Amino acid sequence: MNILITGGGPAGMTAAIKAAEAGENAGKQVNITILDHSDRLGKKLRMTGNGHCNLTNEVLSSDPLSAYSFADQRMLRNLFDRFGFEDTLAFFRSLGICIRNRDGLIYPYSDEAVSVVSALSGALERYGIRVITDCGIRKIDRTGSGFTAETTKGVFHADRLILACGGASYPKTGSDGSGYALAKSFGHRVNTPVPGLVRLVGKGSFFKNVAGVRMKGRMSLFADGRVIKTEDGELQLTEKGISGIAVMNLSNLLSAEKGPFSVRIDLMPEFSEDMIRSMLADKIRTIPGNAAELFTGILPRKLGAHFLKTAKIRPDIPMKEIGSQQIKKLTETVKKWEIGIEDTGSFEEAQITLGGVDTADLEDTLESRIVPGLYFAGEILDLHGFCGGYNLQLCWTTGAVAGVNAVCAPTKVDIK
Ligand SMILES: Cc1cc2nc3c(=O)[nH]c(=O)nc-3n(C[C@H](O)[C@H](O)[C@H](O)COP(=O)(O)OP(=O)(O)OC[C@H]3O[C@@H](n4cnc5c(N)ncnc54)[C@H](O)[C@@H]3O)c2cc1C
Repeated sequence: MNILITGGGPAGMTAAIKAAEAGENAGKQVNITILDHSDRLGKKLRMTGNGHCNLTNEVLSSDPLSAYSFADQRMLRNLFDRFGFEDTLAFFRSLGICIRNRDGLIYPYSDEAVSVVSALSGALERYGIRVITDCGIRKIDRTGSGFTAETTKGVFHADRLILACGGASYPKTGSDGSGYALAKSFGHRVNTPVPGLVRLVGKGSFFKNVAGVRMKGRMSLFADGRVIKTEDGELQLTEKGISGIAVMNLSNLLSAEKGPFSVRIDLMPEFSEDMIRSMLADKIRTIPGNAAELFTGILPRKLGAHFLKTAKIRPDIPMKEIGSQQIKKLTETVKKWEIGIEDTGSFEEAQITLGGVDTADLEDTLESRIVPGLYFAGEILDLHGFCGGYNLQLCWTTGAVAGVNAVCAPTKVDIK
């Protein structure tokens, strides 16, 4: 049996390894080839987790669905039943990777994403999986009960095809969205791809004054006046808007909602408005100084200056001249700083792609219902999660399910 896998990211590599293992266990002769148009495999994987690679998340051992609240829940439950968190840990152990658990976030003990790529590549080599890089795919046709791929490196025939081309984010890593065209050429529906886990572009010209500020806070996404989700985490202010893990998680929800959008930020979630008001009033009463010092030691300098400016308080007036109404207003801003959201960042900077191949057209084995023998794995699918290892987990899971089933599942196609 010949299996062709297009795309050698985490999903494609896992599919290849698991297909080879399944073939060996079943005593079947299976020839596996990975075609990738990049010059090397796993380019994006090398960048994950700031180079440390957040492989998965311990939350998945008890609550596998909460991090994927907007994806196809039935399909996810089925997939995690087949290859879940524990299977993933066992998979990495079998590749010789020791696990580091950092408050539930799972990393390789080496703390190096590149070691995950090496371990996967080593397994590809051990199983004799053919890897062809710099291989542009011109088209793939259904021929008889199999597939024929015309590429810049020749023509390849296969009995099974696994599309694992990733999404459209970080196109410089090779995931340029071209996999969607391949999926469509087989009649698959592709739900509109949009950038996910990405910064939010804010309305207003003040961002340049506060860019560079990083501060813990509580962020709530509002869509058309309604709270959609609240996240605690580090807020990062940029030249054009807001970022940080909490903001990126919120960004995943925009495409499913109707605007206008805004993010309300509570910069001091541990304190009530009353507590902040009396803290500021005490400071004014007990500490002589200018208004510029009101937020010193409370908020980052740039942010304090920005809030005074928006409240039209001159920084050089004595602090005691700040009136109680102004303190009330400043306190409200600290607790409910409202930032209008114009857009999300682009695919160039998005960690994942939302949308993709519609899972309604797939069997539980990830085989196409339209073209038997065709499988999908990884981010090309319309399945996605929040930050925290949940997206790589989807790659290990879907890669394993597609790989094993491509070899073992009964299909309507006769394999010669
Ligand atoms: C900066 C950054 C950090 C991240 N950190 C994390 C993290 O710590 N934890 C986590 O869970 N997730 C993280 N992610 C998300 C995670 O990297 C992706 O979800 C994952 O890489 C998707 O894997 P994939 O195999 O589906 O696709 P990809 O990794 O995108 O790989 C697809 C492969 O297919 C090839 N390809 C594409 N189209 C074609 C074609 N037409 N022909 C031939 N080859 C093709 C590409 O060259 C590429 O090698 C991060 C993403 C980014 C950008």
